[in-house]
Amino acid sequence: MGHVRSAAVLGAGTMGAQIAAHLANAGLPVLLLDLDAQTAAAGLQRARKLRPDPFFTPDAARLITTGGFDTDLPRLAACDWIIEAIVERLDVKQALLARVEPHRGPDAAVSSNTSGIPLADIAQGRSPEFRRHWLGTHFFNPPRYLQLLEIIPTADTDAGVADRIARFADRGLGKGVVVARDTPGFIANRIGMYGAARTLELLADGQFTVEEIDALTGPLIGRAKSATFRTMDIAGLDILAHVAADLDRRLPDEAEQGAFRLPELVGALIDKGWIGEKAGQGFYRKERTPEGSRILTLDPASLDYRPRQSPRLPAADAAGANDDLPARVRTLLLDKSRAGELTRATLGRTLVYAAETAGAIAHSTGDVDRAMRWGFGWELGPFELWDAVGVDTICEACQLSEPPAAVRDLDALRRARGPELRILRSARAERPPVRRNAGASLVDLGDGVLAVEFHSKMNAIGGDIVDMLQAGVREAEQHFDALVVGNDAAAFSAGANLMLVLLEAQEENWDEIDLMVRTFQSAVTGLRSAGVPVVVAPAGLTLGGGCEIALHGDRVQAAAETYMGQVEAGVGLIPAGGGTKELVARAMQSLRSRAMDPLPVLQQVFELIGYGKVSTSAADARRLGLLRDTDGVTMNRERLLADARARARDLAGGGYQPPPPQHAIPVGGDGVRATLELGVHLALRGGWISGHDALIGRKLAHILAGGAIPHATTVSEQYLLDLEREAFLSLCGEPRTQQRIAHTLKTGKTLRN
Ligand code: NAD
Repeated sequence: MGHVRSAAVLGAGTMGAQIAAHLANAGLPVLLLDLDAQTAAAGLQRARKLRPDPFFTPDAARLITTGGFDTDLPRLAACDWIIEAIVERLDVKQALLARVEPHRGPDAAVSSNTSGIPLADIAQGRSPEFRRHWLGTHFFNPPRYLQLLEIIPTADTDAGVADRIARFADRGLGKGVVVARDTPGFIANRIGMYGAARTLELLADGQFTVEEIDALTGPLIGRAKSATFRTMDIAGLDILAHVAADLDRRLPDEAEQGAFRLPELVGALIDKGWIGEKAGQGFYRKERTPEGSRILTLDPASLDYRPRQSPRLPAADAAGANDDLPARVRTLLLDKSRAGELTRATLGRTLVYAAETAGAIAHSTGDVDRAMRWGFGWELGPFELWDAVGVDTICEACQLSEPPAAVRDLDALRRARGPELRILRSARAERPPVRRNAGASLVDLGDGVLAVEFHSKMNAIGGDIVDMLQAGVREAEQHFDALVVGNDAAAFSAGANLMLVLLEAQEENWDEIDLMVRTFQSAVTGLRSAGVPVVVAPAGLTLGGGCEIALHGDRVQAAAETYMGQVEAGVGLIPAGGGTKELVARAMQSLRSRAMDPLPVLQQVFELIGYGKVSTSAADARRLGLLRDTDGVTMNRERLLADARARARDLAGGGYQPPPPQHAIPVGGDGVRATLELGVHLALRGGWISGHDALIGRKLAHILAGGAIPHATTVSEQYLLDLEREAFLSLCGEPRTQQRIAHTLKTGKTLRN
């Protein structure tokens, strides 16, 4: 027994093919089997076309080989982990396992992705040895992107086997692992479906519109923007009904109370085929119009679609003004208007149900919280809400004479939360920040490592973040061994604060812009020259200036889901915070000898910046040249800062010396510039790019060639930074650049003018 080095997935349907993809993302060779080889190959093909992409890079798919149950079962002998993901039928699953058993290697774990069939039932008839290696591994759709993985050991499962799979799922696949008891629906679907059923009841009763319910069950109460009905449309009403029917069948006590009975409305929609996004309509329908498209909403009484209405819920608007989630929930639960009525009937009842069932479905209330946060995107889990909103408040709102047993002991509730994987969050809770301004903080991460944490809107970079980067380096040099730049937000940084740039440009404050760029350049290059090692930990959007910060870490420790790119050209600019300089230097250094032709590598950089390419994952960022071989990737987002800290400690331990300044970066001169400019010219003539794109392209070509230099030579880092800044300033003065920035600020989209 040991690591998981190879895997097999049985069933190449919706889930099986995507689970195989994610195992391949983790670098595992995967055998993907279905009824026959052709069905498996077709399943893999479908997965390759899915959006969002289940694969980190197109190359990952090469790790998957396909085959059929009819001919390829003997190949299972080489697999450490076999995952069953075929149709949700007990008899079919049992029959397949009987055929699998003789081919299982002695240490191989076998698991099922069933969403609700008791695991012990599926393994009936199998040998004791098989059952020791048998467990449930319940992935959520889409498995690459949804954090939760429920692991369900049976009474027979060897603890070591469950542990090995849990560890691999956490570190290797990056999942948020929760161990659940072997009960129908496990944890997340059981609680989530209970809430969904309550909400659907209210809609079917005709007391609330789709829009009203979505307004009250989205971000206002700490849920996703897609709230109730958009989420159901995405998941599919057929899947929803199937899971509910299964719970209803397997839980007689609940069935008696109608806990999982869905209103007839859902059946009516399924009969019409209106099962959500994959059918083009469900609770919402997107309709094409001459101007683009518009969203229509279902009227549950007539089953017609009508234009969207804005909900009229004054209590929701009032609660929404409060930034504090528990305070909003408290207000809504006690509210006397319809908003309160709805919140009590849905969220209130769900919180009570969670308290009543937690003991039967989970090993701790903390596990229920994690399952709901990771599986259903709740900002706070049910027990975190009980604690933060207040047991008395919830009891009063839900007319309970006494609190359910599970929430009576608040200390126990808090202990059940267990250690926090997110070390930045716990560091923040333990001690005040070393320093703080509106955009960023310095946080002592422990272990001699200081962190610069951004916390502006979308982590857009303004003066306060730049100040804090510089303060972070100074502070770390004086009092710490290393510095980490990272945060817990969905976006590491969406880039520079464009509003600032636009305002200064419109006022023609060129000196201001010059100073702004200089300061940013010096903050970014200061990360590289700092006397302590600096590890940058990007995750999610890492654009423009955010990307430049990452490019200047001694090392990068990136989350697997990192979307990195120098996107300045889209707003009529070029990267001028060292991004262009750094990518040129890296490209030139990648040439093994000075005699090699630099054009192919520079052409890549030219396209990377010119087209503003953004990586679709950290693995893709490596392919694009935005991450180096020495940079690391963390699969589990929650562990990112702990890994970055460990990386920083490693570097500090080895007697860290900052790299010497780059005085001699090779550049190609006029030869390179002429060729790149010819490309720009041809693209313009061919109608591929606009005149303004061509102007930006020529500025970029100028820098990539090392400026107006007749022949190949070497230049200093500062010289390239000066070229960047000059180009940036001159582009800021272009009306079409200002139009692009204004358009992006207004619409979030790019303008190709
Ligand atoms: P699917 O229908 O997309 O795929 C099922 C696969 O099983 C198909 O590739 C099919 O060829 C194969 N199959 C059909 N009959 C078979 C038979 N007699 N013997 C062997 N194989 C057979 O289903 P799915 O949505 O991928 O679900 C697979 C499993 O994952 C189920 O247990 C389901 O409950 C569970 N699950 C699904 C989701 C989801 O959102 N779809 C989420 C979590 C768990």
